[in-house]
Amino acid sequence: MAMPDPKPRMSHPTDRRGANPLISVILPCLDEEDVLAETLARLDRMALAQADCRFEFIFVDDGSRDRTAEILRQAAAGDDRVRVMRFARNFGQQIAVTAGIEMAAGDAVVLMDADLQDPPEVVARMVALWRDGFDVVYGTRSSRRADSLVKRATARMFYATINRLSEVPIPSDTGDFRLMSRQVVNVLRQMPERHRFIRGMVSWVGFRQTAIPYERPERFAGVTKYPLRKMVRFATDGILSFSIRPLQLSIALGMIAAGLALAGIAYALFMRIFTNTWVEGWTALMMAVLFMGGVQLLCLGILGEYVGRIYSEVKRRPLYVIAEKVGFDETPPG
Ligand code: UDP
Ligand code: MG
Repeated sequence: MAMPDPKPRMSHPTDRRGANPLISVILPCLDEEDVLAETLARLDRMALAQADCRFEFIFVDDGSRDRTAEILRQAAAGDDRVRVMRFARNFGQQIAVTAGIEMAAGDAVVLMDADLQDPPEVVARMVALWRDGFDVVYGTRSSRRADSLVKRATARMFYATINRLSEVPIPSDTGDFRLMSRQVVNVLRQMPERHRFIRGMVSWVGFRQTAIPYERPERFAGVTKYPLRKMVRFATDGILSFSIRPLQLSIALGMIAAGLALAGIAYALFMRIFTNTWVEGWTALMMAVLFMGGVQLLCLGILGEYVGRIYSEVKRRPLYVIAEKVGFDETPPG
């Protein structure tokens, strides 16, 4: 993991960070009816404590089927900082965050889960570091006590793998909880890829990035929206969008298989010509056939993953479909 840079660059143009900056907080929501009232209250308290900043809260309803939309609409009606964007169906958290980023008008943009696992109070510390000149302030989990053993083990494996394979270092024990400067957000907005792994994309952008540790509590209410199936897809997306090393590994695997095949052929011919016997039987044959078949299918599968990604990329469909917008100004931010 890249060490956080302790010395911010003070020559950075900080004028927009000075008086009364606008902070956009983006919260993707999928079926969060049980937590939203508390989330809104905590956000309000956090904003009150930060009197020298203005806030907008952008809730992206990612195709919820419960009362999420209703609650958010009501909140927007009573509070002009609250903006709501409702997707026509579930597009996934990473896409929801992207939509929020595209609509955010803030001088700084904060990404936060809606379930209060990313405590709103941490935002004050993030804003302070941003004012010191940092462009990205990401939260790292000081402990993973709230996570299950399986989640901790798989997370460790995932970050070890992705950091071996990817050229961009991706800090472990971080989620999407982070503050980004306008500069970083403007670069992100120019990254149109469909399989989005936001925390990796932000690392890729660069600038001054630093970490702040925070204690990650359990989800306030409701259940996780990341079952194992979705988590595996998310991890695959992360690795495949940040590395073509799996393709190179399949070449290596192919070379090993071809080497073994050559050795086998040489052995069989040697036996036939010099000892006038055949290599015996079914076992050797099956081993060769099954091994080769396995290697071929594995390499084909890896190739297929990348081809599939190219396919969905070239279709150029919009990333998401918006069904409803509440509380946004008429003119979208430039
Ligand atoms: N989320 C979303 N769309 C999805 C899945 C999740 O908008 O398809 C939101 C969810 O409402 C929450 C955040 O993403 O605000 C993180 O999800 P969750 O807390 O369920 O994940 P976990 O913390 O268990 O990894
Ligand atoms: Mg959560």
